[in-house]
Amino acid sequence: MFCSKCGKQIDDSSGWCIHCGAQCGGAQVAKASAKKTVVLIAVIVVVVAAIFAAVLGSAFLRGGAGLFGT
Ligand SMILES: [Zn+2]
Repeated sequence: MFCSKCGKQIDDSSGWCIHCGAQCGGAQVAKASAKKTVVLIAVIVVVVAAIFAAVLGSAFLRGGAGLFGT
């Protein structure tokens, strides 16, 4: 494959460029990317849960007010 930084051909199994030293492909990059995805999913789940709780909470309050307000 070719280095993503300098564009020179490097060994597929090395994972890093012998010309400029940049990390290219390989298991380490894939692992880091997977970890980033897991963190992103965790953040989305927390945000969705917070929004869901807020909507559910306000709906419950509105329902309660409607029940006891009239
Ligand atoms: Zn390079």
